[in-house]
Amino acid sequence: MIKREKGLLIVLSGPSGVGKGTVRKALFAQEDVDFQYSISMTTRKPREGEVDGVDYFFKTREEFEQLIRENKLLEWAEYVGNYYGTPIDYVEKTLNEGKDVFLEIEVQGAIQVRKAFPEGLFIFLMPPSLDELKNRIVTRGTESEDLIQNRMKVAKEEIEMMHEYDYIVVNDQVNLACERIKAIVMAEHCRRERV
Ligand code: 5GP
Repeated sequence: MIKREKGLLIVLSGPSGVGKGTVRKALFAQEDVDFQYSISMTTRKPREGEVDGVDYFFKTREEFEQLIRENKLLEWAEYVGNYYGTPIDYVEKTLNEGKDVFLEIEVQGAIQVRKAFPEGLFIFLMPPSLDELKNRIVTRGTESEDLIQNRMKVAKEEIEMMHEYDYIVVNDQVNLACERIKAIVMAEHCRRERV
């Protein structure tokens, strides 16, 4: 086992509905994955089955705005009416322990992380097509028609941002997307092994 001084910051991003959450959960269910997942803060209400401190840290808008003022967030974004953000302390502490940290965040947040951590590894998850993306947003069934339209509009703008990323992974099949991400992380470690 190689002991590293600093872990790799892995950022998985991509449009709403592409399946970032599904891919992330599938990755973390695998035994050979030893990235540390950074649990985000959000002001969105929990969906059925979501647990505070596992899926997200659920906060009020007041609490979230306080975290912004106190510079406790590495990045944050207001996305379809709710705040989402990454707690900075966890990320820094874990990277300094030599462990890889994995963020699953939307595109505006990923751009902010790129500025703070240019040495991070930025992976863009792509839908196989826009039709497929709409299907996924609709079949998730948790959104109203207005929200679906809004999410599709944001998604199209987000896809334009793929050029800012180090790697593109097409999410045609969840298990394949996971294999690609693991291969990218492994290759990236080998590339950075130079002294
Ligand atoms: P959802 O409400 O579907 O859980 O998430 C909506 C979007 O917010 C998804 O694209 C998800 O990746 C993103 N997201 C989750 N956590 C964070 C975060 O900490 N920061 C940012 N910028 N986006 C996040």
